[in-house]
Amino acid sequence: MLDKGQEFIQPQPEKKNIRASEKQLYQELFNSLDTNSAGYIHKPHLIETLEANGIHADDTRLENLIHNLQSYSSTDKIYIKDFYKIVHDNIGIVEKCLRGRLIIPSFPEFRRDIEEIFNKTKEDTTGHVADYIPQLKRVDPEQYGVAVTTIHGQHLHLGDANIPFCVQSTCKPINYCIALEDHGADTVHQHVGREPSGTVFNELALNSKGRPHNPMINAGAIMSCSLIHNELPLADRFDYVLEKWTNLCAGKKPGFNNAVYLSEKQTADRNFALGYFMRENNAFPENTNLIEILEFYFQCCSIELTCRDLSMVAATLANAGVCPYTGQRVFSSETVKKCLSLMSSCGMYDFSGEFSFIVGLPAKSGVSGSVMVIVPNVAGFAIWSPRLDKCGNSVRGIEFSKALTSTFNFHIYDNLHCASDKKDPRINKSKLQNDVAVELCWAASYGDIDEIKKLVARGIELNTTDYDKRTALHISAAEGNANVVRYLLLKGVDVNPVDRWGGTPLDDAIRSKNDAVIKLLQKNGALKSTDLKVSA
Ligand code: GLU
Repeated sequence: MLDKGQEFIQPQPEKKNIRASEKQLYQELFNSLDTNSAGYIHKPHLIETLEANGIHADDTRLENLIHNLQSYSSTDKIYIKDFYKIVHDNIGIVEKCLRGRLIIPSFPEFRRDIEEIFNKTKEDTTGHVADYIPQLKRVDPEQYGVAVTTIHGQHLHLGDANIPFCVQSTCKPINYCIALEDHGADTVHQHVGREPSGTVFNELALNSKGRPHNPMINAGAIMSCSLIHNELPLADRFDYVLEKWTNLCAGKKPGFNNAVYLSEKQTADRNFALGYFMRENNAFPENTNLIEILEFYFQCCSIELTCRDLSMVAATLANAGVCPYTGQRVFSSETVKKCLSLMSSCGMYDFSGEFSFIVGLPAKSGVSGSVMVIVPNVAGFAIWSPRLDKCGNSVRGIEFSKALTSTFNFHIYDNLHCASDKKDPRINKSKLQNDVAVELCWAASYGDIDEIKKLVARGIELNTTDYDKRTALHISAAEGNANVVRYLLLKGVDVNPVDRWGGTPLDDAIRSKNDAVIKLLQKNGALKSTDLKVSA
């Protein structure tokens, strides 16, 4: 045990080190912005750099930074000491952004690809808006919005992404999550199944146990509503649900479309029929007031969000239940896992199987034309375009989703492919190149032929060099690994690559005095660096 005096003597040198490395960090970040090495930067450049990476000035995580910048005009010079003070409180996100450590490091390129998909799918004007209530029938069918939010809070939105629409069936996964959190999966699934129904979303049908097939169709969604704080007055239940949406949207409270709610209520014969059918089968929890539950369901469908908001909800699900902006855990990862599983199998009406086959991502659509698509551990997408196909899915929503996974390797089984011509925006290309080079050099130095074969199977170029321009042939020659040298030569690698110091693999072999390797190399035309210069 330390006594008080000892405790007081803090290890000062360590503190100094921390300061030194901290100083270095700020200096490096500053240098990356000071492209002309002028010794100062300007406010617009800092903001533009963050925004280009998808981190926007209205991001709550940048609150202090934006506040600190207020006293600077766009032409004021910001020196390193000012920079330190400005970014200090938000250094975490600034560091990740400037050092390319956000989940999508090349955000401008990603943005271009998304814009391209958006513009292409915008041309599709097929389909018809939902017409079962006047409020949906009157919506301008041309509208089209797309928004993406990554698990690190990078955001981009296009088109009509700031126009509110009612969530309709997009509320179903959220209500299911809330029911799971409140009761656990065992209780919830005594009342609702987990199988695709194989029929339309509002089919008057239950499974063999007299329960709705799953929580993503109307009967199951009405059932989820009956499992959300049944004991509370209806108004409080709605407040409770709205609070969850608010947390999913990083603190932004969603709207409510009363006209949609009233219309839904008036044209709800099928939903009433489903409710009575389930009651006849004793499917509801005890003390369920059916009329109240149906009203609650119509209210949930009438919640209004924009694409920007819905993409935050989707990103929270992609981030295993933690809101990327606030860091608040809204749902447990176990809850989200269950919800995404059912979204994958049942989320897209009668097109769920096809969607899972082609797009391969958990998603949920609603008759307002909304589609929420989750790329687990990467990002959440919200697409809104009111024209629907015959299954009730947004036409552009489906086309956008298809294009998304044909452009990027986001389909959950894309990772089965060793080589694919799809893009992976998650990977920092230069880092990937370096990682592979390091793996190859390690395998060469240890004489691990099997590992080298695996790298070949992954499509690696065997002439890849490390930071010192050393190839696998240099390293295996230096280590005297004749089996690797033989294998590389058989694969036709360059016999006389030159490293940073001008050395060839034969120089390495001679230095390590390995006769077998020297002979092998010479037989294949290898030269010493001195001879190489002469022959050049
Ligand atoms: N309010 C609609 C209904 O229950 C929701 C339909 C939907 O988006 O699938 O009929």
